[in-house]
Amino acid sequence: MNDLLLIDRHQVVLPDLRPDRNQTTRSQRYYIWTVGCQMNVSDSERLEAALQGVGYSPAQQPDEASFIVLNSCSVRASAEERILGKLGELQRIKRQYPDTQIVLWGCMVGPDNESIFKARLPMVDHFVSPSAVDQVLALAPNPIYQLDEPVLPVRDWTHPPVAVHVPIQYGCNMTCAYCVIPLRRGRERSRPLEEIVDEVQRIVARGAKEITLLGQIVDSWGHDLPGRPRLSDLLLAVHDTPGLLRLRFLTSHPAWMTNDLIATVARLPRCQHEINLPVQAGHDAVLKRMRRGYTVTRYRELVASIRAAMPDVALTTDIIVGHPGETREYFEHTLALVNELRFDKIHIAAFSARPGTMAAEQELDLTLAVSEDEKHARRRELEQLQEQIATTINARLHNQTVEVLVEGEFRGKWRGRTSANKLVFFTHPDNWMGRLAQVRITHTSPWSLQGTVINPGEDSIQYA
Ligand code: SF4
Repeated sequence: MNDLLLIDRHQVVLPDLRPDRNQTTRSQRYYIWTVGCQMNVSDSERLEAALQGVGYSPAQQPDEASFIVLNSCSVRASAEERILGKLGELQRIKRQYPDTQIVLWGCMVGPDNESIFKARLPMVDHFVSPSAVDQVLALAPNPIYQLDEPVLPVRDWTHPPVAVHVPIQYGCNMTCAYCVIPLRRGRERSRPLEEIVDEVQRIVARGAKEITLLGQIVDSWGHDLPGRPRLSDLLLAVHDTPGLLRLRFLTSHPAWMTNDLIATVARLPRCQHEINLPVQAGHDAVLKRMRRGYTVTRYRELVASIRAAMPDVALTTDIIVGHPGETREYFEHTLALVNELRFDKIHIAAFSARPGTMAAEQELDLTLAVSEDEKHARRRELEQLQEQIATTINARLHNQTVEVLVEGEFRGKWRGRTSANKLVFFTHPDNWMGRLAQVRITHTSPWSLQGTVINPGEDSIQYA
């Protein structure tokens, strides 16, 4: 099983023809361990569903499985270290059960490093590039059945979760100095519109209520397809899927976001007013060194356009602190920009040099490198500022009523998200799974909200 995930079940129950885990032997059990971003999670879920479709069942522990897949991440050194630590553990299993097949999958595997890893990791039987689900599936040694339908990006496609991420594009054509993804995931490849629409329809028909379209630069989707369709065309094509309540997309890029896309999101009722627009740094000198392709002025203009079109929008961003060349003064510009734009949420990372990237070379220049202590001090400073901002933003919701799509239960409470993707908890005796609740907020914090249901027994949303 994938031990990073807790998947919620929807109440619609369709026949489940998978083998019972208790009746399968070790030779037909798999174990998947996933590190990294939502794209990896989605790839692992698709693989998991495919393995179940050919007769495998999940193992609780790696030593109960004959087929072990580690879906890896190399965005930061710490993610790679976790995978290497896990492989050390698996070496013992491989000694005890020599027939175990171990696959290293994902962003740690690329054309630039496969031969190095082959020499360094003798316990690994196969190395597979990111997102190549079919290639991993073909390595499973003991399939019983053949798949008779395309696999969905959910762990169990007879009972999908309420909210599902659907990859619409793989790879990236940008060359951000700090980023290893283009080296590992390759050039951008958009999935055809019809294929995505079909997949969304099949997931929603099985009970999912919210779809997030996923890509490294989701706004650039379609530019490599015949007729060059735009993301706004895709949003329109999936928007009216019967049963779909909410539509999101992730991750945007300031150099690719257009007024057409902003207007489409503002106009379509199922498109949620939440945009993740990574700024990465608050000074042009750092953005230039990062090769991001926009200026702080352009970023401000985009935020102004988004907020003019959707005054209630929740804006989130990503920031890297301590990139080579980021002086204290430049970092203070980042703090000032955050104070000015007041994001709902920031994913903050301290710069981590990745071999093969331009920024890793820049970090070798001691006049540009930022010390580890300074990187972590800047990260903490930014985190503290963001905590104050999120506290204030969320406090405005106190006593307000928000619409919550319920995704599951957590410690005896219902757990769901608002249109702005804010986490809400409430208690109520009814079954709210997969339903919309009107919740009056009674308690706020920078990270989540708590409240009371005011519409027991009925869903309030009505779309034309
Ligand atoms: S846009 Fe930049 S940061 Fe994002 S995946 Fe592409 S290269 Fe990496």
